Amino acid sequence: MEAMEEMETRDGSVSSAQDRADLHTHTTWSDGSLSPEELVQKAAGAGLSAIAIADHDNVGGLAEAAEVGRTVGVEVIAGLELSASLGEKDVHILAYFFDPADSRLLEYLEFFRRERLKRAERIVRKLNGLDVPLTLESVLDQAGIGSVGRPHIANALVEEGYTSNYHEAFSKYLGSGGPAYEKKYQVSPEEAVRLIARAGGLSFFAHPGKHTTEADLLAMINVGLDGIEVVHPSHSPAMQQHYRSVVSQYFLLESGGSDFHGGKKNDNGVFGSFTVPMSVVDEMRRRCFR
Ligand code: AMP
Ligand code: ZN
Ligand code: FE
Ligand code: FE
Repeated sequence: MEAMEEMETRDGSVSSAQDRADLHTHTTWSDGSLSPEELVQKAAGAGLSAIAIADHDNVGGLAEAAEVGRTVGVEVIAGLELSASLGEKDVHILAYFFDPADSRLLEYLEFFRRERLKRAERIVRKLNGLDVPLTLESVLDQAGIGSVGRPHIANALVEEGYTSNYHEAFSKYLGSGGPAYEKKYQVSPEEAVRLIARAGGLSFFAHPGKHTTEADLLAMINVGLDGIEVVHPSHSPAMQQHYRSVVSQYFLLESGGSDFHGGKKNDNGVFGSFTVPMSVVDEMRRRCFR
């Protein structure tokens, strides 16, 4: 076997990237800055065995990624990140191993993307009302083929010189409760889980540590999730340990990944450092009855 450099990673593993998977990445089909091909090439370069592309409300990048994956020897797992509302909170749900051609799923995703576009229009109007003459065109230029979201609006604000950096765009205007904030159309967690299950997939509570309480976590488990994202850059080692214990207590599955968006959001360091062993992927596969 070719000698690979041993590295200590922030997901608590001490091993080579071989036999490891990153199950949470984004491409230009949502708010990532690498194309599916570039991302899969990067995964191959990092020595990962598998990668899941989990674009927001979009499965458009999966076919290209799978094709490149076959040529470079990286398994590409169908992934997706949906937003749902839990009370007033915005929670994210990751889907894996669904059928990317499921027509009901594709219809829903199209609907969610149309709603994202309407919301971008509302945000631009709010910004205009705040004397920020941003145009929808500049936002759509940033989004390209991707599901339009606040990250694209933030990029446009920076590009057009209305804010000095990406984070200021959120703290000044776009962040939850900010003067240009607008809610996205959101399904309930139950609906999201049902949609994913009907497409043959598994649902995971994404990065629960970001802003959820233990009560929220239990509420999410009760809607019938298959698992919890344990490894994520926003989770401390203590949180990982906690979520892993919850996973075993409720007979759930675990998942994990870097939430890598392509490096432009100051996130280059996460790639390759937040992974799960392939045994986690095998466990998921065993839980699929498709
Ligand atoms: P959206 O799906 O359009 O609501 O955009 C949500 C995305 O915006 C998140 O996944 C983050 O990447 C980013 N985001 C949300 N809040 C902030 C914030 N306060 N600072 C920086 N990025 C943020
Ligand atoms: Zn994103
Ligand atoms: Fe997320
Ligand atoms: Fe994400």
